Amino acid sequence: MTAMRLDGKELAKVMRAEVAARVADRTRAGKRLPGLAAVIVGENPASQVYVRNKHKACQDAGLASWVHHLPAETSQAQLLDLVARFNADPQVHGILVQLPLPRQIDEDAVIRAVAPAKDVDCFHPENLGLLASGHPRYYPCTPHGVVQLLRRNGVEPAGKEVVIVGRSNIVGKPLALMLAQKRTPANPAGGDATVTIAHTRTRDLAAVCRRAEILIVAAGSPRIVTADMVVPGVVVVDVGTNSVNGKLVGDVHEGVGEVAAALSPVPGGVGPMTITLLLVNTLTAAEAIDG
Ligand code: NAP
Repeated sequence: MTAMRLDGKELAKVMRAEVAARVADRTRAGKRLPGLAAVIVGENPASQVYVRNKHKACQDAGLASWVHHLPAETSQAQLLDLVARFNADPQVHGILVQLPLPRQIDEDAVIRAVAPAKDVDCFHPENLGLLASGHPRYYPCTPHGVVQLLRRNGVEPAGKEVVIVGRSNIVGKPLALMLAQKRTPANPAGGDATVTIAHTRTRDLAAVCRRAEILIVAAGSPRIVTADMVVPGVVVVDVGTNSVNGKLVGDVHEGVGEVAAALSPVPGGVGPMTITLLLVNTLTAAEAIDG
């Protein structure tokens, strides 16, 4: 690969050390530890790994962290009761309900039950509205991880043609909003870019991808972007995580690394950044709630 590696693992170390230093300052000032309460319902193996990694990252950075494992047959009312307890608990600054939830539980109802001030995933409609209006309370973790991975590697999106493959509520759509928005003191992650969103109804995905100076792929389809679909010098961020024959692969074919100027690896790119931005949001929540 000739492309520069956009190394999320290394950047995550740097940013987690920054979080740890701010947490230590708060502790010295006699303030409560920022606390993250996570809930996982059922036995989804991928969810178990995500929640375990988030818990460990919190502990390493000096945050308080609690993980509640609920059985797969948990009712919606039981889960809402637990969320209500977290909403009222002053030790809990951030609440994370790991998705997906079992079928008997309405995900939207749970997302709306989380107090917006503690919604560190930024899934609540109030927080999405604030984000869309350019006055974010929190940034969603994966999109913010992508923006940080670009900027802290010296890739400035302002004025550039950005193509995002994927329009989900968790990645593509909020990321498109963030990158298209004006950068202001209230909205420091604003990208000032010219943004195109591609999806499964896009007529000629290759032609659209070739427009990109920055290409971000969040489709969940293994290796759909190949070397012939990008122009030399493009910066590519691969958000995809797909299991192929037991191996974790991205949405971008390895061959793109021979054409691109920079490429984020899978694993070790966006994944560690997502968890890092969750820590940042939990710290931000503690600062907003406790002062
Ligand atoms: P999602 O909800 O399944 O959305 C995928 C999006 O990509 C949809 O908008 C879909 O279009 C589009 N798409 C799928 N295949 C396509 C194709 N062949 N051509 C063009 N567009 C296509 O997935 P998600 O939650 O956004 O996640 C995307 C990927 O990122 C997954 O692999 C996920 O595991 C990964 N992810 C990683 C992290 C991390 O921290 N590394 C975090 C979140 C997600 P339609 O809307 O038309 O269906």
